[in-house]
Formats: sequence, C-alpha cells, structure tokens
Amino acid sequence: MKNILNWAVLWGARVVNGFDNTLDKFARQRAIWLYHASHSIHHLRDWIAERKRPIIKHMAGIALVTTMLMGTINYFSCYEYSYNGREIGYVKTQDDVIRILNIANKALSEEHNSKINIQADSIQFHKVPKIGKSLDTEDQVLKKFTYMSDIKAKGYAITVEEKDGKNQVVALLNSKKMAKEVLADVKEHYLTDDEKNYQSIKFKEKVKVVEHDTTLTAIDSKIAALKRLTAADRPLITVISVGDETNVVTIPYETEEQKTDELYIGDQKVVQEGSDGRKVVTAKVTRENGKVVDEKELSSKILVEPTKKIILAGSAERPKTAATGKFVYPLGRFRLSSGFGYRWGRLHEGLDLAAPTGTPIMAADGGRIIRASNFGAYGLCIEIDHENGKVTRYAHCSSVDVAVGDRVYQGQVIGAVGNTGRSYGSHCHFEIRINGAAVDPQDYL
Ligand SMILES: [Zn+2]
Repeated sequence: MKNILNWAVLWGARVVNGFDNTLDKFARQRAIWLYHASHSIHHLRDWIAERKRPIIKHMAGIALVTTMLMGTINYFSCYEYSYNGREIGYVKTQDDVIRILNIANKALSEEHNSKINIQADSIQFHKVPKIGKSLDTEDQVLKKFTYMSDIKAKGYAITVEEKDGKNQVVALLNSKKMAKEVLADVKEHYLTDDEKNYQSIKFKEKVKVVEHDTTLTAIDSKIAALKRLTAADRPLITVISVGDETNVVTIPYETEEQKTDELYIGDQKVVQEGSDGRKVVTAKVTRENGKVVDEKELSSKILVEPTKKIILAGSAERPKTAATGKFVYPLGRFRLSSGFGYRWGRLHEGLDLAAPTGTPIMAADGGRIIRASNFGAYGLCIEIDHENGKVTRYAHCSSVDVAVGDRVYQGQVIGAVGNTGRSYGSHCHFEIRINGAAVDPQDYL
C-alpha cells in the first residue's frame, strides 16, 4: 500500500511536470482539459465501481494527488504578460488580461477618437514563480494598457510625392475623414480673404490619403498636423490658388525736368509738386501658399490721376561772378589775432586777420559790390552781396579796387589790408552776415 502511494506521487509529479512544460502555451486549454479529465475520471470511476473497488480507490487517489500537486504549482506561480515583447506586469491568470482587452480597446478608442484594437495574439504570457511579484488587478491591467504608448494603431497618412517619386508621409491622422479635413484646412489656411473670387484651389504636389499602420502616439491631432503642414519656414504642402482680385492700386507720379536759362547749370527749382494717383485694378492672381507668383491685369479704372512733379533745371552758363555758396579766406597769409565772440562785454562780429598793410584782400565768394567807402569805425570798408542771403564785409582797408555795382568773382582782389577806422595794428576785419545777422565765419570757411 505504501509503495503504491509513493509510486502514485512520483507518477503524479511526472504528469504535472509534463503539464508544466506545456503550460506557457496551453494554460487556458489546460483548464478545459482538466475539466474534461475530471469528468472522464468520474465516468471511469462509475464503470470501475461495478467491478473492482480497490482499483477505484487507487485511481481516485492518483487523481486526487495530481490535482493537489497542480494546485500547489499554480499556487506558487503567476504569469508575466508582455505586449509586442515589452514586459508590462504580472497577473494570476491569463484570463485576467484577456478579459480586460475588450474594455481596454473601448477606452483607448474613445480616448484617441479612433478604432483601436489590441489583438489577443500581440500579448505574450510567460509563467514565472510568484514569489516577490506583485500581481496586477484588473484595474491596474486596464490602466497599463491605456497608458501604453506603442500600441499598434491603424492611422491614415497624408502623403506627398517627392521629386524622386516616393510618397513621403507628412501627417498621420486617426481617420480618413480627419485627414481630408486637415487637407481642407491647409487650403483654407492660405485663403483668408473672402473677397477673392477663386477659380481653382489645388495642391502643387501629388497629395494622397492612405491607410497606414502605426503606433498610437505617432498619430497627430488635427491642430498639430495643420501646424506642421503649414509651418511658415518650411511648409510641406504648396497650395496653388488662382482667383480674380480687385484692389485699389497707387499710380506713382512721374517727374518731368524742364530746362530753363533763367537758372545756372546745376541749379534746380521745383515748380510743381507731384502727387500719386489711384486706380482700381482687377487681376487674375496666382498665389502659392498665399504669395503672389503671377498676376495678369484684366481691367482697371482710374480713380485719381497722378500729378507730375515738374522741376526746372538751369541751362545758363554760370558766370564767374556768381556765388558758389562756399567761402574762402580773403587773405592768402595772415595771423588770426581775434576770433568771433564776446570781447569786454561786446560781440566781436567777425575775425581779425592780421597781415602787413598792402596785403591783397580777395572776395570770399562771387557777388556784387554794395559798399566800397569809409564806414565809421570800420574805416575804409568793402561789402559784397552774394545774392543768396549772405553778405561779406572787409574792414580797415588801406585801399579799395572796386566800386559799388561791380560784379566780382571768388578770389578776385578787391582791396588791400590797412589800419583805417577804429583799428590798432594792420589787419582785415572779416564778417559773414546771413540775412543781416553776423555769424562765426570759421563755421563757413
Ligand atoms: Zn575786428
């Protein structure tokens, strides 16, 4: 009896080990098998009961021991489950995961607004010892699936044909409808003006929407897809629009130059200021991503005619005695004995250029002599009107070589340095007056 029991235990263990080797693949079938097996044993027992009771006892004992051993093994093991080779966690039975798949698929589909189907065959089970493992509840299994990022998903790709003929995926969306909506939005993106009467709006590239196997996290939201496709620095799709556009356009004024001998060569005078005109233009405009690439005027109507700008340009030879506008020092060699500014509370209105009596004085610029005589404290004094608002004065001369009314040119000798009038030492007192007011000659020389 004892021997038989030992043998039974050993045999049972062997059977169980045999089971265990195939458990990883057939664990669920095992449950069904056990169910049938116990039924068979039950029938067998009924059959044997009518014949030999001892055999029944032994057979029943074997079945009992087998079941106990199985139970013990099961009690100390659990399943590691993985998705596409990536370990996710541990569960007591495979059914704990399989049962949850439908719920997980439904939750994921709702969250990502797309049909997501995690197939049972993409989940792998591996039997491992339970010791030290924490088993996932159904709730935890569901959570892990919901947060899994590499779940395979069916997406719809927007593809653009490259120069080499290959279709490049530029966006991935959940549904065909969504992909088409994004493409419509891309067109819309560049067609902001309702006033434009578009005749055609199309893509420059060959754009297609195709089914595409991908993972859940690779799928774009509509907003993200639109943003990428229309990126200002590098748009992935080109929208070509052709439409009639009506705009008010500026007509720039022209400038006309008229020659006149009333002005010296180089001198100009504006006789009429120009002003821009305006017109309404209707044109067939071709745009790429909103930028005009071609424009054909269909009709136009002038609202305001432009006004020409008219400039008189001098054609008369400039006489030698005409002012150049720039001054030169009236003496060739001199010593600056006093500058422009306040001296003892009085404004010294010019420069004192010290030089020996008789040194030639030259006209600082061309003009007409308006004084050539004694002038109080200035002594013998010369003044030239440069006929541009400026007058120069040369005082304390010893002699003058010109008379009032004479025209002189720049550099022409008009007199000589002296010490006449209120003067202490031989020098030329030189002034520049602009519209009557004395200025510092050194700012103009
Ligand atoms: Zn002076």
